[in-house]
Amino acid sequence: MCGIVGYIGHREAYPIILQGLQRLEYRGYDSAGIALYDGDHLKVCKTKGKVEDLKNRLESEISTKGTIGIGHTRWATHGVPNDINSHPHISNSGNLVIIHNGIIENYDPLRQELINRGYSFQSDTDTEVLVNLIEDVKSKENVKLGKAVQIALNQTIGAYAIAVFDKTKPNEIVVARLGSPLAIGVGDDEFFIASDATPFIEYTNNAIYLEDGEMAVVRNHKELEIRKIKDDSLVDPYIQELQLNLEQIEKGGYDHFMIKEIYEQPDAITDTFRGRMKTKEGIIRMAGIDDNIDKFLNARRIVVVACGTSWHAGLVAEYIFEEFARIPVEVEYASEFRYRNPVIYEDDVVIAISQSGETADTMAAIKLAKEKGAFVFGVCNVVGSSISRETHAGAYTHAGPEIGVASTKAFTTQITILTLIALKLAKLKGKLSLTEFRTYLQELESIPAKVAEALKSNEQAIRVAAQYKDVANALYLGRGYNFPVALEGALKLKEISYIHAEGYPAAEMKHGPIALIDEEMPVVVIATRQGHYEKVVSNIEEIKARSGKIIGIVSKGDTEVKKLADHVIEIPETLEPFTPLLTTIPLQLLSYHIAVMLGKNVDQPRNLAKSVTVE
Ligand code: GLU
Repeated sequence: MCGIVGYIGHREAYPIILQGLQRLEYRGYDSAGIALYDGDHLKVCKTKGKVEDLKNRLESEISTKGTIGIGHTRWATHGVPNDINSHPHISNSGNLVIIHNGIIENYDPLRQELINRGYSFQSDTDTEVLVNLIEDVKSKENVKLGKAVQIALNQTIGAYAIAVFDKTKPNEIVVARLGSPLAIGVGDDEFFIASDATPFIEYTNNAIYLEDGEMAVVRNHKELEIRKIKDDSLVDPYIQELQLNLEQIEKGGYDHFMIKEIYEQPDAITDTFRGRMKTKEGIIRMAGIDDNIDKFLNARRIVVVACGTSWHAGLVAEYIFEEFARIPVEVEYASEFRYRNPVIYEDDVVIAISQSGETADTMAAIKLAKEKGAFVFGVCNVVGSSISRETHAGAYTHAGPEIGVASTKAFTTQITILTLIALKLAKLKGKLSLTEFRTYLQELESIPAKVAEALKSNEQAIRVAAQYKDVANALYLGRGYNFPVALEGALKLKEISYIHAEGYPAAEMKHGPIALIDEEMPVVVIATRQGHYEKVVSNIEEIKARSGKIIGIVSKGDTEVKKLADHVIEIPETLEPFTPLLTTIPLQLLSYHIAVMLGKNVDQPRNLAKSVTVE
């Protein structure tokens, strides 16, 4: 995920683009860059770091004149965040310049093909491949830029929002989108281009939101033409009048980043699959695993080190790895592991999980595991982070920037990536037949739509939140795969509402927590149809007998828990190992609404920080 901005018109483009990038910086801040054309020269300035770094550098390095330009703030997916990998990228001839948000999945074969045709590459990005592909098509087919972009995009697989222009024909910008957002601001004799409307809100209220699979050419400050990328058919522009203020737009119309990120989960999970899971072919491709496959196949154990929510994702992974790949797993708090002289074998694989990739304790645990000779694999969200550099190999979750301090989409995408790894190993170890493997992949593919369905429980979550927002304590229970989800649900509530909550394996309740239950105590019980259902129902009976208030998270159409519980929230059915990806959704919503109703600072809860870089 990144922010893109463009301008063509009668004003100076630089101040508009720079301010636009500042407003879009929440979308990514690995690097920033800008390209301007002043009638004679194409000037490009880009740098690792924030938009502020770009500003400092740019004003001393290049003239900022020009009425056409594009800018980018990057959240790296391909290639570490450095100056060279920063956008904009220029084609080999030096004529075409592009900015891109998204991932071109088949960039590698395209790159090889272009190398064979004499092209060379400066960066590691998929984006530089795309701009040269467009250039290649343009010269080979002798077509205009718009047509070349269209033909090139039809050869790509992946997701994109792009803006590209040609310095030899600086009267038009071509934009296109598939899977990444793109808005066009329509002014008087001018056009604005951006990932969302914030960069141009003070210049125009008229915006066109391109639909997936559409491209547009904005030309001569006045002309606009929208077409479908696939079949070239013309699309009537639908100009919307914006009524949102700046802050609302940054948060995509949501009140907080946390709720925005909760709702982003269907897309975030899809992005985690992207380019990795080939259901039809029955393949999971992951470079970090493929290149080190012997380490994984010969692993004596998998040791997960993590903190907080990532540790909960690790616990889910324990169930999945042991079930599918039959590799023994231990899940450790990184902060304990690093100080307790753990037994680590050289044939252990250590998986370190951290959203930010900067968590100090996890970093120390990695160093210790490496000293002891283990192979260390990182699961991070932030590309180029310290942990991604310190580990021997890894896989990114590609969830996009997570800004709300309480982790949501990082958790579900961590589970997703760990599930992909477990399934891949299970197949390679012969623990799953191709048919079984495909069945799991198929079901996994349906998860984003099911998460979207689970998000419809929002209204129920609001009703339940209103009833319990004033409690002092809450209990969360789950079994099997959903025991870690109970822990995560309790953590979410604590973090943002400051209500004391405990997560427990449902059967453990009898060994202590049951003493807490009275008519004041809400107990959230995860009771999906798959996963020890009868046993959980018995646990619910035990709570009921002690007058506890039961909030059941149940499978759609459930009747049994419905009879016993005070409230139920339904989620779609899925295979048991994938239920955490769905059961966690209503728990996130519940915590969010309780915190909002209590007037807490949801995105920046007291005493917490987004990435814990101290031990
Ligand atoms: N895939 C591109 C890159 O890694 C774009 C990433 C983005 O959306 O910022 O540079």
